[in-house]
Amino acid sequence: MSANTRRSILGWLAAIASAATLAGLVSCGDGVASSPATLVLRGGKVLTMDADRSVATAVAVYGNRIVAVGNDAAVASYIGPDTKVVELAGRTLLPGFIDAHIHPVLGAERLGQCSMDGETLTIEEILPRIQACVDAETNPAPDKWIQVVNVNPANFVATADDLDTISTTRPILMSGIDGHTAWVNHKALQLAGITKATPDPDGGQIERDANGEPTGFLKDAAQGLVAAVVPPLSLAEKMALTQQALDLARARGITTVQDAWASEAEMEVYAALADAGKLKMRVRATLASEIVDDEAEYERLIDLRARFANHPLIRANAVKLFSDGVIEYPTQTAAMITPYLDGKGNETANYGERYFEQDILNAYVARLDAEGFTVHTHSIGDFTTRAVLDAHQAAREQNGETDNRHQISHLQVVDPADFARFAELGVIANMQLFWALPDVYTIDAVQPYLQPARHRLMYPAGSLVRAGALLAGGSDWPVDVFPWDPMPNTPLAAAFMGITRTNPIPDDPLYGQVLNAGEAVTLDDMLAAYTINAAYATRMEAKHGSIEVGKIADFAVIDLDLETIAPEDLLYASVQMTVLDGEVVYDAPAVLAAPATSLRSVSALAANGRSRATRRNHDFCAQIAQAAHATHTPRAPTTHR
Ligand SMILES: [Zn+2]
Ligand SMILES: [Zn+2]
Repeated sequence: MSANTRRSILGWLAAIASAATLAGLVSCGDGVASSPATLVLRGGKVLTMDADRSVATAVAVYGNRIVAVGNDAAVASYIGPDTKVVELAGRTLLPGFIDAHIHPVLGAERLGQCSMDGETLTIEEILPRIQACVDAETNPAPDKWIQVVNVNPANFVATADDLDTISTTRPILMSGIDGHTAWVNHKALQLAGITKATPDPDGGQIERDANGEPTGFLKDAAQGLVAAVVPPLSLAEKMALTQQALDLARARGITTVQDAWASEAEMEVYAALADAGKLKMRVRATLASEIVDDEAEYERLIDLRARFANHPLIRANAVKLFSDGVIEYPTQTAAMITPYLDGKGNETANYGERYFEQDILNAYVARLDAEGFTVHTHSIGDFTTRAVLDAHQAAREQNGETDNRHQISHLQVVDPADFARFAELGVIANMQLFWALPDVYTIDAVQPYLQPARHRLMYPAGSLVRAGALLAGGSDWPVDVFPWDPMPNTPLAAAFMGITRTNPIPDDPLYGQVLNAGEAVTLDDMLAAYTINAAYATRMEAKHGSIEVGKIADFAVIDLDLETIAPEDLLYASVQMTVLDGEVVYDAPAVLAAPATSLRSVSALAANGRSRATRRNHDFCAQIAQAAHATHTPRAPTTHR
């Protein structure tokens, strides 16, 4: 059954592909150029990612369309006096990458803040770094907040008095990379109204000295007292920062992003960038929803979708749900079928948190499905993934097959009984396989707390693919921000992890170890996950995701021959050119032999002994989830259909 479904999905993709080829032939005659191409790339290895996985050497483009794919001789007739010719010289040409799970606008806000990069630092070491950030500002308003992010909170102590040495007139908010800790100066305490008399909020703590005065250290929900008084960024500031984030993405060969939590504020940023002619990125938004089965909410989502229905670069025909949290100790909010262990092999009473009652989830998913939305759900735990699949099954019973390309993201643990259900229900596995290696997140913070049989199911990409699931890939940026690379989770680096599942950091205690080798997938699986499969997941495969006549000219040029290099060279492979709509939107400076896209500096970093201190903002998802969750209390459906 599952194999059949997979074949039918693949067959369907092939049908689409040949329809596109046919369209190309119709418009281009018998392959004879009716007019010269505007762009020709030749002499390379063109991995077309078409249904046959054809390999060519050259591509001709007219405007934003691919008009010929073949060998150099076949495209020669398309070269005219004004044709821009790019000599690939053996390099790989791929369809532009589609990052199927990323948070460009939310992540961009962090780019504008003063980052401590998760390094192990004392307050004495941090203060000069904050001062350097402050000194680098041009004409800040006298009351402008100073925001410091990515502080490593392990054994870290700081007080409002320490931060007052930077400023007593400007408020300072310094946040831990774990999402659970913050330190502020007295100005920030004053603006937030935090005094000796302020009670600890539910789920939070205001640290106090012997006299009961706040020290400036805030835990969990107490951070919200300060966050509430930090002014939001202006649209212009968000646009500038988002452009920085999208520049990083373009430099990694990405031409399409699926924003995995887009509120109206995020949509406003994309729309404004597009109106200014600056977007130069396709955006498929999965809309942030209030997650209530409520007519007004459905109307809001439908209106938002309609606003972008004919936009040249933006679509908003998907909705995002958070169905649980994260699995790492001590947060452990991912909902599990079996309870978490206490770290010593004993079961606890904790099964994680389910954010929905099943009937609410069913009603919501069925209605969104009936309205034609793609439902994109965050799910980490095996209990939650089963619940979401159940909801999709219920929706199918109610609505029939709707071809809405529903997808579940992360899939950190999936019960084997559910593997085949992805293909059966047409639910896409949207995975972040850059995380599929033995490290602090999968071993130290998880292994002692999970049943061994569950731990052996971590990131089960191989099992899902074998069971016929369509695998799409995404970075979930800004979850990974390394001191030496603000966007390290690239399609190529994820491909390395997906293929090898091996820790590549030389001085890491887990260096060279493999996470569940049986769950490895192939290079083709990984390239497809970021091209044709992600195009399918975003309903863009008729025009995108492969290099075929009639499709849109979105490309990534990689400096190495991906088919002949060793897997570890994927970490060193570099994107040298990115093309969107037939236009070069990223061209690596020739001097930039060192790539923007890789872990090339891993060994240099390891030499500094810092790799172990490098931490992910792995709670990013959890923070969004909690924020989303806090804005509403799931309640009984008010409508039924
Ligand atoms: Zn995410
Ligand atoms: Zn998530």
